[in-house]
Amino acid sequence: MIFIIINSNDSREDGRSFDELRSLKIESNVLKRADGSAYLELGGNKILAAVYGPRESFIKRLLKPNTGVIRCRYNMAPFSVDDRKRPGPDRRSTEISKIIAESLRPSLLLENFPNSMIDISIEVIEAEGGTRCAGITAAAVALADAGIPMKDIVVGCAAGKVNDKIVLDLSEKEDKEGQADVPIAIMPRTNEITLLQTDGILTEDEFLKAIDLAIGGCHEISEIQKIALKKKYEESL
Ligand code: UDP
Repeated sequence: MIFIIINSNDSREDGRSFDELRSLKIESNVLKRADGSAYLELGGNKILAAVYGPRESFIKRLLKPNTGVIRCRYNMAPFSVDDRKRPGPDRRSTEISKIIAESLRPSLLLENFPNSMIDISIEVIEAEGGTRCAGITAAAVALADAGIPMKDIVVGCAAGKVNDKIVLDLSEKEDKEGQADVPIAIMPRTNEITLLQTDGILTEDEFLKAIDLAIGGCHEISEIQKIALKKKYEESL
């Protein structure tokens, strides 16, 4: 079966050009009870991130005497997708929780917080492709909002291959019907990559092109992260 999801005029099904992000909105400090929080909309994705800590934990076996530790829980609400998602953790959410924690960890100065825990909760309220990257972007804003010392604000974005073209920020349809998806996260000040996954088949050239495109997308998103943080800071003065 052949899916036509790039139109003959080369624009994509939703009218975007190959290097165009979906519409993006980020707001920081949206939850009163969390130490830091953020709400993000990227296309049809709606995501809330909350951060607690650094704090002591009752689960002593998880703590480390020489460094702080972070834990992440990524969860998709049952109503976030077309077919109701069965509530509770599954293989996919366990994997995404792990890779999100790993993609954020290099940015945090955890050695300043021995015997402490930072908990990150990511709730996907509506999903439309690219939720792991959007979750990373939202969680990084929530970490900055919590005042946790960090080297940089990590940002996530995907590129991929759809109808033989390398395109930025795949929608759900492009993700499901396209040929490949390459989600990445970076620390934008140095372009250090903290997450790199690939689902699908690409030539080496296509793979490098996808990474370049995704890094460009990360830098665009990074500017919106900073605006969201500055806005809340200025409002609090
Ligand atoms: N999705 C879904 N049901 C599920 C899991 C995912 O409909 O149980 C959709 C959702 O829109 C998600 C997309 O499929 O964003 C792609 O999922 P993937 O596992 O590739 O992760 P993501 O792109 O969200 O990081």
